[in-house]
Amino acid sequence: MIRWDAHMCLPLHPQASFAPIDLLRASGLNYVSINVGMDMNPLSQIMSVIAGYRATIAAHPDRYVQVGGVADIERAKAGGQIAVGFDLEGAIPLLEQADMVALYARLGVRQIHFAYNRNNSVADGCHDVARGLTALGRRMVAAVNAAGLLMDCSHTGRQCSLEIMAASGQPVIFSHANPLALVEHGRNITDAQIRACAGTGGVVCVSGVSKFLGTNTPTAQDVARHAAYVADLVGVQHVGIGLDNGFSEPGLNDRPPGDFDPAYWWPEPAGYVNAITGVCYTPIDTWSKLASALQATGMRAEEVALVLGGNMLRVAQQVWGSAT
Ligand SMILES: [Zn+2]
Repeated sequence: MIRWDAHMCLPLHPQASFAPIDLLRASGLNYVSINVGMDMNPLSQIMSVIAGYRATIAAHPDRYVQVGGVADIERAKAGGQIAVGFDLEGAIPLLEQADMVALYARLGVRQIHFAYNRNNSVADGCHDVARGLTALGRRMVAAVNAAGLLMDCSHTGRQCSLEIMAASGQPVIFSHANPLALVEHGRNITDAQIRACAGTGGVVCVSGVSKFLGTNTPTAQDVARHAAYVADLVGVQHVGIGLDNGFSEPGLNDRPPGDFDPAYWWPEPAGYVNAITGVCYTPIDTWSKLASALQATGMRAEEVALVLGGNMLRVAQQVWGSAT
């Protein structure tokens, strides 16, 4: 059994401590996707972060394995390490150049979504005006498919996400998104989006973020409730976990340089208060409690194993293995 967390965030700083990753490893996690940049981060910061994270992983081969393919995850499990992949949140760092996708893949990026809450030249954000996937966006979907990266639709506009899923020749995931039917928020996704994702053969990974779970003190039970909703709607083979824990570190400034405006990226009319201050995440030991919480929703042990990682492993095997 593989346990897979489809998204979390360390400070976007090359010297960020991997202590949170060690805690996740201790709670039984086998693979984690960590964010290396969003649409608000300049390329200089993203490259510096990728170099720093890669160096930390390489310096501790007893603890971490940099992931290229599914075999690396099996190897990490056998060796008692945790496997680490990178994800990109937004297409602005692709510089409107489809070739950039394969370059990021070489650097350890295994998953990407095209917009972070706001529109860009590739795709729509979930907190912006709906336009649809652009012509450049269609070329980017093809580049993500060709590079064998997981196409993600988190943070993406609803109509645009449906167009991405229709355009993709490979399964598409939501690495961290929750059902709108349970909590009304612009970041949460409709039943139509969940059905379309399942239709690609993909997986909806539910997050552990307070606002999107509809509670100020999110727990494993809340995550399990959202997972069970997706399972009831489209089948348990399309459910995963992406807790989206965000870790900060005293003294480490990871704020994007320049005229960064948090109220633009997390707009107040969309339900954010002072950007994302006040957002809470599930406790760090949540991974050790998820199995029993999922079982309490009525899932059998083999279904729990699919949700905790079996489904994402299946999709990654197909998508990562398809690089041309
Ligand atoms: Zn995110």
